[in-house]
Amino acid sequence: MRSIATLELQYAHRFYGFRGEAQYLHGHSGILTIEVEDTVNEGVNMVFPCNEIKKIAWEVLQNFDHALILREDDPLLPAILKVYEEQGIKDGAPNNTQKGPAFKTELATAYPECRLVVTKETMTAEGMIKIVYELLKDKLNIAKITFVSGINTASEEYTPKNIIDRCPMCGVALNENGVCPKCGYRK
Ligand SMILES: [Zn+2]
Ligand SMILES: [Zn+2]
Repeated sequence: MRSIATLELQYAHRFYGFRGEAQYLHGHSGILTIEVEDTVNEGVNMVFPCNEIKKIAWEVLQNFDHALILREDDPLLPAILKVYEEQGIKDGAPNNTQKGPAFKTELATAYPECRLVVTKETMTAEGMIKIVYELLKDKLNIAKITFVSGINTASEEYTPKNIIDRCPMCGVALNENGVCPKCGYRK
């Protein structure tokens, strides 16, 4: 069975080199849906708590929210960084508090201090799905990711392979010692 969580991400991007309107900088409210598949955890009668899927995903994905997402070879990148530098906000600002840990994968590097994500490929709906899967595949048993960005929607399905021990009392993943980080249950 599957537990399904949805997150909203607001971001600006463009398709550098694309022959269409999307080559100009513009923004979206993107809707990301993550489907987690596993057996039903009998203690709580659910696969995985949806608020927990959201929490685990948001920890890293908040770096995409109110962020600028540019491809690594986009000449806007040095131009934007120059402005941020001159304005003194490149390395952070006191009111820029909604930040996840910086990350770097094969496909994307996050710079939370200036709300920038640099991608290897153009950040289409398909590109976003590849990035999200790379970031979350070891943390969640992802069966499907769907991303809606404006009128563009893409989805991909996966075969979940992780063995995630879940708490029979509250449903969250047990830590490496078999202890529930939320309610303290011990296996
Ligand atoms: Zn767009
Ligand atoms: Zn628990």
